[in-house]
Amino acid sequence: MSRTLRLVLGDQLNPTHSWFKNLDASITYVFVECRGEGSYVPHHIQKLVGILQAMRNFSEQLKNKGHEVYYHKLLDSEEVELADILHTISSKLNATELQFMQPDELRVQQNLEELVNRGHSVSFVSSEHFISTKEEFTITFKGKKSFLMETFYRKLRKRTGILMEGDAPYGGKWNYDSQNRKKLPKNHLIPPPYLPSTNVEEVYADVKKAQLRTIGNLDDPRYYYWPTTTEQALAIFEQWLEHCFQFFGDFQDAMTLSDWALYHSRISFALNVKLLDPLIICQSAEAYYRSNDHIPLNAAEGFIRQILGWREFMRGVYWERMPAFGTENYFGHKAPLPSWFWNGKTKMKCLSHSIGQSLDHAYAHHIQRLMVTGNFMLLAGIDPDEVDLWYLSIYIDAFEWVEITNTRGMSQYADGGWIATKPYVASANYMKKMGDYCHNCFYNEKTKIDSDSCPFNSLYWNFFERHRELLSNNFRLGMVYRTFDKMSSESKVAIRARANYVLDNLEQL
Ligand SMILES: Cc1cc2nc3c(=O)[nH]c(=O)nc-3n(C[C@H](O)[C@H](O)[C@H](O)COP(=O)(O)OP(=O)(O)OC[C@H]3O[C@@H](n4cnc5c(N)ncnc54)[C@H](O)[C@@H]3O)c2cc1C
Ligand code: SF4
Repeated sequence: MSRTLRLVLGDQLNPTHSWFKNLDASITYVFVECRGEGSYVPHHIQKLVGILQAMRNFSEQLKNKGHEVYYHKLLDSEEVELADILHTISSKLNATELQFMQPDELRVQQNLEELVNRGHSVSFVSSEHFISTKEEFTITFKGKKSFLMETFYRKLRKRTGILMEGDAPYGGKWNYDSQNRKKLPKNHLIPPPYLPSTNVEEVYADVKKAQLRTIGNLDDPRYYYWPTTTEQALAIFEQWLEHCFQFFGDFQDAMTLSDWALYHSRISFALNVKLLDPLIICQSAEAYYRSNDHIPLNAAEGFIRQILGWREFMRGVYWERMPAFGTENYFGHKAPLPSWFWNGKTKMKCLSHSIGQSLDHAYAHHIQRLMVTGNFMLLAGIDPDEVDLWYLSIYIDAFEWVEITNTRGMSQYADGGWIATKPYVASANYMKKMGDYCHNCFYNEKTKIDSDSCPFNSLYWNFFERHRELLSNNFRLGMVYRTFDKMSSESKVAIRARANYVLDNLEQL
């Protein structure tokens, strides 16, 4: 009898995929816990454990439904590469055909395509996850020199009918981003994040035995709190709708020392491993908004824009611009990442807090990633390869297609402006306006040139001075350069001297 193997990757745990609708005795679903995938960067321990636990749970669900399943655990062989392991499994099971869902990452696709050269009959089907297609993205931006998220977002709003009234955006405006920038009021109480609980001791022990290099903390593997089933992921989302949705818009950009998730949904991991369906999440958010008067439109639109807009857009950018995108370095930045990025030991409060919580929870919200860690890395001229490595390692939701587009593109402007219309950099003014990090910081957020001045302040101006040739023609930066040019030459000299000191002493900050 012919036997088809269908590979289910750790980020393809889509319970509604059409593959799983009917039982077929000639098909075996293959799950591979792969050392290569577990070690191409030093992953956060919570990310590795979460993916493997979710794979084990998903395979059990398929078995319980009557599907044939072959599960390869991390310790089952010493083989490293996915293609090698699959080749071995295929021979063992006398498979005649290999079927794959289209992977999200180029690295994995290339690895799987190798199997054709080894004589396998290979075919790919859609992962049936994303709302848009790669072709739709290509057609939208054909002949353009940059991509605009807003263009793609509006197109998808119209096509899906989400937050629409006929052909017009619901409420009259497409985008309410300008209403999403409030600081948390004093004594504002944020509801504690809803955390499910799973015992991951077995998976944890396997990861340790396999000696995969990991980073970060996992306090107690008996109470792991990232979702490893669709039910858990939906419970997180439903709790979020009830307790956090209404404030999501207002405080989307806020930062605080007293909470690690604020009003963010924490569903990126579940979305990226496909336990959750992005279209259903957007539709559910809209339905909740429409039937609950206390949810403001800036919250509903703001949340939907992140998923229907940014997430779909970044996936389009990835496939449109890779592999070239992965090597771009517009500013020619070469500085090594300071070692304290791996342990949080810096006197800069904003950074020690954001890095510390990332090591503890494998999570930081968007503004911490963009305006704290990313902002510092760009101002300090860190090599984008090192930036990518750090982001890909530390976050629970880090998969290359959505990580590299956010780091090299949105955060580091290493693509020279395909994604962002200007570099996202800021001085301590922004940090002070949006949060409470500057209280009790060793550095003085108000000054630029003293020995205890906030490093962001001199680096900010020095960045624009250093890259004048590349940036001064950007119409969005006219004001920045006009302000800089009005400074006295003494001020400029002093700022340059302080910035150079900071750049020469990144390790000691
Ligand atoms: C430098 C940098 C690196 C990032 N790396 C990743 C990454 O590796 N993986 C990842 O999923 N996201 C990444 N993001 C985007 C964003 O920060 C995370 O998706 C978000 O913080 C996840 O937390 P949440 O689920 O609570 O999001 P919420 O704030 O609740 O947003 C809801 C959802 O919108 C989506 N979303 C929001 N912003 C973006 C964005 N810029 N791009 C794509 N999707 C978005 C996510 O799926 C998220 O779950 C990165 C952003 C920056 C600036
Ligand atoms: S003073 Fe500067 S380094 Fe300290 S928390 Fe504020 S922005 Fe960060």
